[in-house]
Amino acid sequence: MTRAPHSGNGGMGTALPRAFLVTTPEEFRQTLDRAEQAARPYAAVSSQRRSEFLQAAARAVRQAGSALVSAAMRETGLTEARLTGEVERTASQLEFFARTVLEGSWVDARIDRARPDRTPVPKPDVRSMRVPLGVVAVFGASNFPLAFSTAGGDTASALAAGCPVVVKAHPAHPETALLAAEALEHAAHETGMPEGTFGIVFGEGPHLGQELVKHPAVRAVGFTGSRAGGLALEQVARARPVPIPVYAEMSSVNPVVITSRAARREGLPRGLAASITGSGGQLCTQPGLVFIPAGADGDALLGAVAEQVRQAEPCALLTPAIQDAYLQGIQRVTTLPGVHVHAAAGGPALATPAVIEVTLEDFQRHPALSQENFGPSSVAVRYRHVDDLPEVITRLEGQLTATLHADPDELPDLTALCQALIDRAGRFVFNGYPTGVEVGAAMVHGGPYPATTDGVTTSVGSHAMHRFTRLMAYQNLPDAALPAALQDANPLHLWRQVDGEWTNKGLTPGP
Ligand code: NAP
Repeated sequence: MTRAPHSGNGGMGTALPRAFLVTTPEEFRQTLDRAEQAARPYAAVSSQRRSEFLQAAARAVRQAGSALVSAAMRETGLTEARLTGEVERTASQLEFFARTVLEGSWVDARIDRARPDRTPVPKPDVRSMRVPLGVVAVFGASNFPLAFSTAGGDTASALAAGCPVVVKAHPAHPETALLAAEALEHAAHETGMPEGTFGIVFGEGPHLGQELVKHPAVRAVGFTGSRAGGLALEQVARARPVPIPVYAEMSSVNPVVITSRAARREGLPRGLAASITGSGGQLCTQPGLVFIPAGADGDALLGAVAEQVRQAEPCALLTPAIQDAYLQGIQRVTTLPGVHVHAAAGGPALATPAVIEVTLEDFQRHPALSQENFGPSSVAVRYRHVDDLPEVITRLEGQLTATLHADPDELPDLTALCQALIDRAGRFVFNGYPTGVEVGAAMVHGGPYPATTDGVTTSVGSHAMHRFTRLMAYQNLPDAALPAALQDANPLHLWRQVDGEWTNKGLTPGP
């Protein structure tokens, strides 16, 4: 890689010099060739060894922890506490996938045994499971330089699924990306993974990323970033001679609805304001749209939230482009008629946390108010009747999350509202906050378009591995020729569906 001088935001509003890495065309070709050559041998690596690789990667990330935190602080301006937490999240996410791979039932093995005596035609033996797709290209996120970037969720889930990964490093944090890549390469070497199992390319501008998506070795793409970027890459993927899936996680305003009874809760203003302004509001699940009742309870809640938000420190956002987009977004909505702004004081170089108040009627008049403005602001929509909300929610774009604050005994009267929120989002949160995405088997971090490009998967949790696999059926193969997951004796001790029943036992002789 070539190091060229580059000057970036450096976070905290200061311009710090930093080294910027550029992959040459020859290095790009070699990285993709190596990844392509690794695809078959890596897919054949046993689940035990793949799990060991992911465990080693987690150790390597922890070992590099303080260097990763220092580099990411310099490059993003995120705080030490936040980034230290992100190191641990990245490592424990790799461990989570290591356990998932070892447990093994994620491959969804199904066996329909033969019935040669069935009439009028004999039934064949059909067995299916998930198999790896091949090389996966990963575009890391600017806002999670560790947990959603080079060694983050997309990379971990693709490696866990048996796919080599080539990361396109985010240009906003190249040194952090390099350190994380070195940790993964070290782990791959230590555990004897095929050369090319992990690779990374560096550069800025659309050309490099688009060449990566066009490359014939690449079979799927994981992306977190802007809607424009995700949709551009999806178009490139669709225009290939052989189109490939792009799993892009893009924009979301994460609506929150608060009933009058819930509005009176102590602690709600503090919790909501923290969720709006935490990490400079640069979280994909940040609540950018809050429905607050009109009347005294709502007035008191909004006043208290606005006061908390006013006390939040103005901050520099991740990159100059994100900062400019935020300030322009604020300018766009605050000049609309009927809008009242509660904002902190801030300099022109800083992102001012803001709550923008509007009536339900004015909200419906101005589509700009329902668009994501990535940063520490939220639109507070004042509604008179909760029964008016389902129709308004139904007209929102697809979201990563939707949240309801209500007393449990109100739920029977809120069925239409709940259904509208569930219909629009990938995760429905009750009496909580959408920020803070737990990594676990049940988590869904996805949602209907345009929150994501595909709307049926998740980028967090064990289901995330499914994105990088395809279903493969084997008909009438001799037992020894089958993958271990489908063999009669069940040597991997997996939970499998056999003739419609779940079992973790080996097969007894067929009927
Ligand atoms: P971005 O501009 O979409 O960039 C993300 C990655 O995609 C970068 O590596 C970028 O590389 C590449 N890229 C972007 N457009 C491309 C194109 N047309 N062709 C090929 N590659 C392309 O996102 P960002 O800079 O991280 O953040 C900007 C905005 O993304 C934010 O304001 C926010 O709206 C959104 N965002 C959303 C989430 C979320 O979780 N939903 C997270 C972070 C950001 P190059 O710049 O080198 O082309």
